[in-house]
Amino acid sequence: MHSRFKAPQLPILVFTDLDGTLLDHDNYSFVAAQPALSRLSDLNIPVIPNTSKTLAELETLSKALSTPHPCIVENGSALCIPQDYFAPSPDAAIVHGYQVIRLAPEYTTVVQTLERLRKELGADFRGFHDMDPGEVAAQTGLSTEDAARARQRLCSEPLLWKDSPAAFARFESALKRQGFSLTRGGRYWHVVAQQGKATAMKAMLALYQANTGQHFTTIALGDSPNDWDMLRSAAIAIIVRRPDGSHLDVEGTGRTLRTEAAGPSGWNRSMQDLIDELTHAHQQHGASRRHGG
Ligand SMILES: [Mg+2]
Repeated sequence: MHSRFKAPQLPILVFTDLDGTLLDHDNYSFVAAQPALSRLSDLNIPVIPNTSKTLAELETLSKALSTPHPCIVENGSALCIPQDYFAPSPDAAIVHGYQVIRLAPEYTTVVQTLERLRKELGADFRGFHDMDPGEVAAQTGLSTEDAARARQRLCSEPLLWKDSPAAFARFESALKRQGFSLTRGGRYWHVVAQQGKATAMKAMLALYQANTGQHFTTIALGDSPNDWDMLRSAAIAIIVRRPDGSHLDVEGTGRTLRTEAAGPSGWNRSMQDLIDELTHAHQQHGASRRHGG
């Protein structure tokens, strides 16, 4: 075996949203969550970003987080597993040293569909494929390098709508007939063709279980409407407080926790408490098994 996967000391997988959840809403820093991240890393517990960001953006972040684990990108569109982490999957394409399993059509198909609808409907919109990195940088406040990474897409397209609400309704129903939907991000509409973050989380869980023969408990952390289905599908849902003090209105189907602090500070405290509790429960369980209980 040449697997880079190491069995975690607690059988859990952590799936986390990034913006406003692990990363601070204003400065994109995860420093406040570092103590919990270090403990998870010491226990070999995978922290798996599940985000609207691209693989290219995640590569940079993974280096900063110094995590060797997989990620889920573009709102559940693709699973990205570092090569040599698991056995090669027949469904995977190799991109930038990752096995990439798409749950949606390729980016060229998304762009072709958009170009056809632009002609057919005469709709006025501007997608990332219409913009150069400079234009994306000017709109988002990203550096030109980060904007270039945000433009390296696998399966989904952000766009600015420039036309009337009536034209938008026609565009949306035409997209739906092609199997795509529109979800609202902070600044852009995202054209996506998948079931969302929950489907991707379940597919990733299945990969872990198939590759290790182990059973895992899922913990999901998020703050926004696009995290709703992921939070509902996890065994433990942690709803991270938003900067305005509110929590996403969602009740997990398993256990639900709500953080006191916003963003990465809340992430840190809740996760540390949970590690304490799960470690204790695991030790008790081990002790009772050793005593034939
Ligand atoms: Mg978020």
